[in-house]
Amino acid sequence: MEDDIRRIGIMGGTFDPIHHGHLVAASEVADRFALDEVVFVPTGQPWQKADEPVSSAEDRYLMTVIATASNPRFQVSRADIDRGGPTYTVDTLRDLHAEYGPKVQLFFITGADALEKILSWKDLDQMFELAHFIGVTRPGFELSAAHLPADTVSLVEVPAMAISSTNCRNRVAAGEPVWYLVPDGVVQYIAKRRLYQG
Ligand code: ATP
Ligand code: MG
Repeated sequence: MEDDIRRIGIMGGTFDPIHHGHLVAASEVADRFALDEVVFVPTGQPWQKADEPVSSAEDRYLMTVIATASNPRFQVSRADIDRGGPTYTVDTLRDLHAEYGPKVQLFFITGADALEKILSWKDLDQMFELAHFIGVTRPGFELSAAHLPADTVSLVEVPAMAISSTNCRNRVAAGEPVWYLVPDGVVQYIAKRRLYQG
């Protein structure tokens, strides 16, 4: 029966740190696509950022838990962290399918910049079988739908939030506030663990 199928959003990211742009995007897509939940999946060692230092997986995981704790429809998965090694989206989708069983439809939520990279990857056909892809607009990134297969990729405009993790890290390093860019508990966690202080 159609009603038995759970609609699960997946939001992968480095989340170094998680910020309100991520949370607004997830909330907006959950509403538009009537998702039952959104699972945030912090990456393992991010291969696309191999040259830059990235906070430990545990710090990124805990900030993601803190940021999502108050929302009953938001969950956090350790799948990519516990698998170890670089994260490939196709592995994330396979693991979450195995974890949630056959009665789910997965929706992979990603920003415009990340979507463009994904669409240049090799396992594309497999990934499209595993999930519907949702690209969210992001200030500073143009999203062109021209070359995208409409049955497997949707584009969604979210309220413009010019926030990035890079900017949050730079602000902390410069002694500037990140209040209201990231959830309060994340501000406090960054201070407690002395993250991003250069
Ligand atoms: P960094 O600056 O380190 O690259 P980031 O802000 O891009 O960090 P990521 O963890 O890389 O954060 O992003 C995870 C996902 O969230 C990606 O798909 C990204 O495109 C999307 N995303 C990030 N910031 C926003 C935002 N402000 N609005 C909408 N989507 C966003
Ligand atoms: Mg990014």
